[in-house]
Amino acid sequence: MRGISSGVYYRRIIAAGSGGSVIDCVFCRIIARQTAADIEYEDAHVMAFKDIYPKAPVHVLIVPKRHIASIAELSDDDAEVIGRCFLVARRLGETKGFADKGYRVSVNTGPEGGQVVYHVHFHFTAGRQRGHGA
Ligand code: 5GP
Ligand code: ZN
Repeated sequence: MRGISSGVYYRRIIAAGSGGSVIDCVFCRIIARQTAADIEYEDAHVMAFKDIYPKAPVHVLIVPKRHIASIAELSDDDAEVIGRCFLVARRLGETKGFADKGYRVSVNTGPEGGQVVYHVHFHFTAGRQRGHGA
């Protein structure tokens, strides 16, 4: 790990909760390059970076650059950027060699959906065999 106790990160994540302001958002800070991350892809609308605590051999987070708190907060205006996130997932699948083997793209939403960071993000995970279901 990076020599940082997990408590540091969890305090920051909590500060970015649904009631927090954008300036407290850990992913907005990564997008603004105020916090370091291993960036895998970036364009004008979308950024993708490695998850700091990977749950699979490949674990990349795909985020819209504009702060959207969660799927539950989406508006019609967000349709294009959300579609762009899926196109970045396709690109990651291709560049990382998983286009044929397959990968998973998932989104946690709200407290019972397991969302911890309230800036919409798509988990791109690959490289591990899994069964059907969640
Ligand atoms: P959620 O549970 O909200 O769907 O997922 C949040 C993810 O963000 C977790 O997998 C967690 O490891 C990751 N994460 C939290 N803080 C940071 C950070 O500062 N940098 C990076 N790269 N990932 C983070
Ligand atoms: Zn944000």
